[in-house]
Amino acid sequence: MNLILLGPPGAGKGTQAQELERCHGLVQLSTGDMLRAAISSGSDLGQEVKSIMDSGALVPDEIMIRMISERTDQLDCTNGFILDGFPRTTAQAEALDDMLDEKGMKIDHVIEMSVDAQVLTKRIAGRFSCAGCGAGYHDEFQKPAKDGVCDHCGNTEFTRRSDDNAETVRKRLDAYEAQTAPLLPYYRGKDSLRTVDALAEIAEVTAEIETVLGGA
Ligand code: ADP
Ligand code: ADP
Ligand code: ZN
Repeated sequence: MNLILLGPPGAGKGTQAQELERCHGLVQLSTGDMLRAAISSGSDLGQEVKSIMDSGALVPDEIMIRMISERTDQLDCTNGFILDGFPRTTAQAEALDDMLDEKGMKIDHVIEMSVDAQVLTKRIAGRFSCAGCGAGYHDEFQKPAKDGVCDHCGNTEFTRRSDDNAETVRKRLDAYEAQTAPLLPYYRGKDSLRTVDALAEIAEVTAEIETVLGGA
């Protein structure tokens, strides 16, 4: 089963993708995480994309399409994957359709995570993740069971993203409205879009997604 999670920054795509990874054995393909890994490694690609990401703009389509094409060729994707943060433009969505056709793969569900813009700033401002395993947390909405200790790997170090600052977040939300929101009618037109209420609590959103996956 292959899924796309679609929604603005802070909607909860990464949170739900991690849950789906744990419960369904799917692999989470987060293009944001891949780009951040490239930056940490100091690769040419990392150097090329760092200033773009810090500004809140989108990385060029060709780079992203190549990245996802190479990643979906890897063996761990054969059991199914969750696209988290891709596609983000109509050009990426069209390229994804062509690419999957060629590989004999398909997307089973496109899940829109619907939220009100007001909650996003608060969600992003409180976001942090485990430096060891990448598990996502929130200062208020998703604290580790034991303060300062990762629930999943026991690590005690955490990180916050440099682009999770007020100014960059504003630009990322604008980029979503201008470049990514047009994907909703694109997928609605193909009849593959299902919408969940991402304003609900994390566990309720997970349950709604399960209904989509289990249902017709
Ligand atoms: P995205 O991947 O869509 O940018 P995240 O999954 O990183 O979003 O979620 C952003 C922040 O909001 C994280 O700190 C996460 O713990 C928190 N969060 C995710 N889903 C919810 C929810 N349904 N209610 C409250 N907080 C949430
Ligand atoms: P969020 O989950 O908060 O939306 P991401 O981690 O998905 O953030 O993305 C962080 C940044 O990485 C984006 O602001 C953008 O610069 C870049 N990025 C990630 N995925 C893509 C993509 N598919 N196309 C273009 N840029 C991307
Ligand atoms: Zn951890």
